[in-house]
Formats: sequence, structure tokens, C-alpha cells
Amino acid sequence: MHKSLHSRSDVNRVYVEKDQGGRGLMSVEETVNYESNSLKKYREGSPVEFKRIAGKIINASSENGRQEYRNHQKTERKQNWHDKQMNGQHLRQTEDQAAKKTWKTKIEKSINYPKCRLCKQKDETVSHIVSECSKIAQTEYKGPHDKVARPVHWSICKKHELPHTEKWYEHRAEAVLENEKVKLLWDFNVQTDQVLEARRPDLILTNKETKQCQVTDIAIPRDTRVVQKENEKIDKYKELGFEINRLWKVKTKMIPIVIGALGAISIRHIVYLPEVGVNMYFETIQKTTILGTADILRKVLS
Ligand SMILES: [Zn+2]
Repeated sequence: MHKSLHSRSDVNRVYVEKDQGGRGLMSVEETVNYESNSLKKYREGSPVEFKRIAGKIINASSENGRQEYRNHQKTERKQNWHDKQMNGQHLRQTEDQAAKKTWKTKIEKSINYPKCRLCKQKDETVSHIVSECSKIAQTEYKGPHDKVARPVHWSICKKHELPHTEKWYEHRAEAVLENEKVKLLWDFNVQTDQVLEARRPDLILTNKETKQCQVTDIAIPRDTRVVQKENEKIDKYKELGFEINRLWKVKTKMIPIVIGALGAISIRHIVYLPEVGVNMYFETIQKTTILGTADILRKVLS
């Protein structure tokens, strides 16, 4: 299926059920066989003789009924995927560890508490640990956030000829950088007349020539919340945008950079990144995010 898995991933995984790490689709060929088996069984069991004969003639791939055929296919697909020991490693390792405690309680009826080992409030799932646990929100989640911020800040510096290192991964973001054309603020608390809840975005780039200002904030939510988080960020900094317009006499635009903890990006990302001034492959930033997430999992689960 187009982009449903990595191009080198095992095709069997597309057809393995979702709760077992696959995509839960049924192949066309299997669906035809499934229905043929069903029809054959139905005809063979008919009290009318010519129907019974028809049942024997139908060219079905299995002697079993449709449910047996389906179960057999499911097992075979799963086994074929699992036999490829290096395919889906990340998923296997993380899910095996995170799900262990929850499943132990649900299946083995153990007395272990299935909640997150840190906050003890939500179920201990991969998405909870990598992006939603309140206990590590202020500490561990800064790791992936800062890892993404580094190439973004570096790219802006490079584009606008501000001081930067040769390699992006050696770059450190300075609080204030300025030249005759632009001013770049990092993690800067904007002084406003009104009391605003959100007035400390990650980046503020002001172009002195065009009188334009872009406010950028980075977030790493769980993968399914990427689009929602982008909208939240735009709403969150709307008031700050108005204040900057008024106080600094510039035209302000909010551009969120949101990447799922396991690498998901929205279609808008294709526009957002170049707009911010990031001229590098999406994959580089995705990989950086995933490495940060892997660090969190390693720390929490080990
Ligand atoms: Zn937690």
C-alpha cells in the first residue's frame, strides 16, 4: 500500500492485524479465496444434488471452510513476518517492553498494577511514555524537542548569515542573534502590555527589511495528534502575534513545527519547513526525533 509502510518493509506486515503490529488489511487474492471456500462449503452442504456437485467443482484453494482458511492465512502471514527477525525491530522492542506490564495484568490476571510506572495515572503504553507522561514532561521531553530545535535554528542561521557551525549537529542555539537584516530570538520571553499565557515561543525571527516576523514553536506529540497539535499551536500564539504586530510594528505569522514522537508529520509540514527557512530533508528531522524518543524509552523502560 502506498506509504503505509517503509518501501523495504515486509509485505506480510500490511496484512497482519493492527493489534499485532500490522496494518490489518486483507489482500484481494485472499478475499477471493476466502469467498470461494465459503461458497464451496455452502454448495457441498446443500440438500440438492446438482448444487453439491457444483460445490465440488468450485476451484477453492483449501478444503476448509472460510473461517479456517482465514485463520490459517492470518497465522501464516504473522509467522512469515516474524521469521524476518530484523523487520519491525523498533516496534517489537518498544511494544514488547511497554505492553508487558499491562498484558501481564489483563491476560495472566497478575496483581501487578497496569498503570504507568512513573505517573501511575494512565496505562503504560508506548505513546503515553514517549509523549504524554506528566512526570517527565518538564525533563525528558526536552531532549527530543531540543534535538529538533537544533537543525531548525542552524538552518535559519545559515540562511540569514548569522553565526553557525559547519555541521548542524554541532550547533548550539544562542538566545539572541542579530545582523543588519534579521534578528533571531531563541526561547525568548516577549514583554507585552497585556498578560499573556503564551509569550515564550521557541523562535522569533524578525526581518528588518521586509518588516515581517515569524513565530515558531516546536512540539513532539504522539503521532496521531500531529495535525491537532499544529492547530493548537497556531491558536495558542495568536494573541502574542497581535501584540508583536502592535508593539514591534511588524507583520507576524505563526508557523508550528510538529513532528510525531515516532516520526509522523502532517502534509502541511512540506510547506512549513521551507517557510521557516529549514532547507534540509524531512527525514533528517524525523530521524532526530526518533533518536530522542528512543532515548526516553531506554531510560524509562530499562
Ligand atoms: Zn505516566
